[in-house]
Order: sequence, then C-alpha cells, then structure tokens
Amino acid sequence: MWKRTNCLYAHELTHALIRKEFSDVPAWMNEGLATMIGHSRVVNSHLLYAGNSSLSRVSATLHKGELLSLSDLFRLTGTEYASRRNSLRYYDASEQFCRFLHSRNQLRLLYHSFRDNPGKRQTNEEIMRRITGFDPDNLEKAWHVWLLRQE
Ligand SMILES: [Zn+2]
Repeated sequence: MWKRTNCLYAHELTHALIRKEFSDVPAWMNEGLATMIGHSRVVNSHLLYAGNSSLSRVSATLHKGELLSLSDLFRLTGTEYASRRNSLRYYDASEQFCRFLHSRNQLRLLYHSFRDNPGKRQTNEEIMRRITGFDPDNLEKAWHVWLLRQE
C-alpha cells in the first residue's frame, strides 16, 4: 500500500512539473513519463526502472497483434486516458514507448525538442524523425524489436 501510494505521488508530481513548463505536452508523453517515473527509483542520480506488470501486458498484446499503433498512441488526448474504458492499455503502451526512447537516450532530447519548438515550425512527427532517426514505420518496428528483447 505504501509503495503504491508512493508511485501515485511520483506520477502526479511528474504531471505537476511538466504542466508548469510544457502545458501542451502530447498526452502520450505526459502519461508515459509520469507512469515510467512512478515505477522507477532514483539511485545515485540515475533513474532505475523498478519493473511492473505493464511490460508483460504490452508484450502479450504485441504477440496477439493487438498492440496500439504509434499513430493511434500519438493521437490520444488527455481526456481519453482519463475517461475511456480500458485505458490501462494506453498507459502501458505510453510507458513502454517512453522506456524505449529512454533506453536510446532520446527521451529527454525529444521532450525538450517538442517543448522548445517556437511557433510550432516543425511537426512532432518531423521532430520524432530527426531525433530517433526513424521514419514512422521503422520507429514502430524498432520499438517492437526492443519490446521483444525485454522479455
Ligand atoms: Zn497521469
């Protein structure tokens, strides 16, 4: 119980910090970051993922061919996370996609590049392509390969 409460505090605190500096953050990144940090510990200034059941749920949906596509994930709104039934799969996919980016040292850079995009001169898709080096199809494939390696 204490641990779960702790996890929720970390989740909500992450939202509060993001809202303060990046109010129009994409919903997948907002929930993915908050969920990932809620499931992590900081050890010697490094984020250590404590693990949870979302990875096995995401892997199971990938094997069944039912994993949310990245294009669907990127379109989700904050309201859909909060109000749609079965939204756990949205949180799971967001968290595991953020972990994938973090493992490539691209999550922080992507966050800053989305945030510091004056006048929205670049689309988020263009930024994603520049930072990850993948077009959308290959980004999705690389994420799936990474997920299978986590099992
Ligand atoms: Zn949240």
